[in-house]
Amino acid sequence: MKENRYSRQTLLPEIGPGGQKKLEKSRAVVIGCGALGTNALSFLVRAGVGQVLVADRDIVDLSNLQRQTLFSERDIGRPKAKVAQEILQEINSDVEVDGQVVDISHANVEKLVKGATVVLDATDNMDTRFLVNDACVKHAIPWVYAGAVGVTGMVMPVFPKGPCLRCVFPALPQPGQLPTCDTVGIVNTLPAAVASLEVTEAFKIMQGKEPMMGLMVLDIWLGEFQKINVKKNPACQTCAKRDFKYLEARERKFAASLCGRNAVQIVPARELRGGLSDLRKQLAKLGDAKVVDGVLRFKSKEADLTVFADGRTIIAGTTNIAKAKTVFSKYIGD
Ligand SMILES: [Zn+2]
Repeated sequence: MKENRYSRQTLLPEIGPGGQKKLEKSRAVVIGCGALGTNALSFLVRAGVGQVLVADRDIVDLSNLQRQTLFSERDIGRPKAKVAQEILQEINSDVEVDGQVVDISHANVEKLVKGATVVLDATDNMDTRFLVNDACVKHAIPWVYAGAVGVTGMVMPVFPKGPCLRCVFPALPQPGQLPTCDTVGIVNTLPAAVASLEVTEAFKIMQGKEPMMGLMVLDIWLGEFQKINVKKNPACQTCAKRDFKYLEARERKFAASLCGRNAVQIVPARELRGGLSDLRKQLAKLGDAKVVDGVLRFKSKEADLTVFADGRTIIAGTTNIAKAKTVFSKYIGD
């Protein structure tokens, strides 16, 4: 069965039977399970990469279905990482797929990337990319940066010895400085193209082959691809000075509106007092509350709440952070 399954890529001189064996012994970690993540995961799992971990904090929303290829209408409201794990396992039962429902932070990013042959960026924000860059440079893991907004995409393999992401972007952008799919939208063919480039680089890395050098920028609408040379910055804080300040940051963002979603995420400073089932009992008196897939879903008068085991909560139906905080205090606590 195995010979047939991968015969079209073992035929290729770029992969061959030797390359296939290396893919099967590799571990790929995908950070994010949105448009880039679902496309990348499908390629990795179909190609027979031995172990695939995907980490994502969000639940499936109707507006995701336009471009996030592993999800269907029946999945709305379920954690993306769990749905992806189920679908991917059906696609290829030879691959070990691990879907982790987590909010990536300085506290868990090193644990998530540890042991990876390659890490694939599929996040929607620079904060997480800077964390991934710090963690991968620190632990000498190659990773592939990828971004897709509007009609423009970028891909760059990052090497632990540099050039790294901070050689290109030395500091985090100010909030509102970069366009997001929230503010400008996205054409659904773009993430598939960016994920194709990204996973091809990951295949080379997993086979121990030389990836492309530099930053690829593409405009999918104009059909233009441009490769920009990237040099290591000898004064780079991350890959030259090994000062991993994003990993050491202790504070967490308390509230943020979620990209592409009419929703706000709240991360409480303390964990939930009881467990989710205690909270469900309390909330059941006030509205429809149920625990499914390890998350509590509660429909209140004001908004729909999704509460994760650590207390992190997504409040749907608003992008107003003040309003979301009020709803959070009312039902979950301060
Ligand atoms: Zn660097």
